[in-house]
Amino acid sequence: MLKCRACDRTYKDDCSLWRCNCGGYLTYFRERPLEISRESIRSGPLSMWRYRSVIPVGPEVISMGEGVTPLVKADIGTGEVLLKLDYLCPTGSYKDRGISVLTTKLRENGVTSLIEDSSGNAGASMASYCARGGLNCRIFVPHYTSAGKCVQIESAGAELVKVPGTREDTSAAALEGARSTFYGSHNWSPWFVEGVKTFAYEIWEQMGWSVPDNLVVPLGQGSLVLGAYRAFSELLEAGLIDHMPKLHGVQAENCAPIVRAYERGLGSPVSIDKIETVAEGISSSQPLRGEEVLEAIRGSKGSAVAVDENSIVEGLFRLSSCGVYVEPTSAVVVPGVSKLIESGAISEGETTAVFLSGSGLKATDKILELRRKTK
Ligand SMILES: [Zn+2]
Repeated sequence: MLKCRACDRTYKDDCSLWRCNCGGYLTYFRERPLEISRESIRSGPLSMWRYRSVIPVGPEVISMGEGVTPLVKADIGTGEVLLKLDYLCPTGSYKDRGISVLTTKLRENGVTSLIEDSSGNAGASMASYCARGGLNCRIFVPHYTSAGKCVQIESAGAELVKVPGTREDTSAAALEGARSTFYGSHNWSPWFVEGVKTFAYEIWEQMGWSVPDNLVVPLGQGSLVLGAYRAFSELLEAGLIDHMPKLHGVQAENCAPIVRAYERGLGSPVSIDKIETVAEGISSSQPLRGEEVLEAIRGSKGSAVAVDENSIVEGLFRLSSCGVYVEPTSAVVVPGVSKLIESGAISEGETTAVFLSGSGLKATDKILELRRKTK
């Protein structure tokens, strides 16, 4: 069942709407109890589809073996943490988890052509999965999107539309285009998070069926926070874990509407004047599901912190010196963990998993520029 947060109206799973008739966004709610067993997971495929009992789609999936990414110990200057290397998904970002489920569900519902807008990674993922699944797509991106992501989108055969202005201007242009074609936006879709959540199931399995005390993720629209909260809530409900990890979201200081709301004890993201940030993937000044993200952060007893541009670049180089080549957006977690330790949000002796979202290979033009500037 799909439900609108704004007006409580419900729709069937196979409805062809991308949002509620009132204009609100839709979220998926399971009507039957979950059936999760370690045995069925162990015997499943070596991809996120080993958790398919918790993914609400039919048997014909659009997949490229996404998921089952490494979880490795590392010292990123803050003591030992567990790095979830999710940038190793097929198209180079964690978005593949959500896009695999989203495209599968849309194809099931009869969609053959769609429009998506993205800061880059979701667009690259959407273009690739549409190519894989035989869907046509047109992808809108902001003009400043890394060349690697744009080339990836066009190489998959999608139509690329570069939009001048901000990330929000890109969404507005896509909405205009969606008057004639289905709007497959991953941010609006109720299905995206149902795929993203599998990374948290994976951490649970990789830690020997247990969960860390803390999970630290980059925070833009908030799909990682929402995905983790959903997965860990499902595991708690099923009696398979004994506590909810504290979920910590890290934003760039230049674009921190959720952090500002968290600090002031507010329930909705704060309206901000965004400044450009090297963390292009989380440059979202108006996160659609921001209220829910704040509820998840508070519900898990986690927190939200903002980090400045210099510390993001230092974090990026710290990670690459450990052999971990991610895009600048992912690097926010390094100064994020430092801040969380300083503030006492993460205590000594606690286990912390840190999520790395996008590959550095797509952002090499930008990383090269940053290296030249700092020499
Ligand atoms: Zn509604």
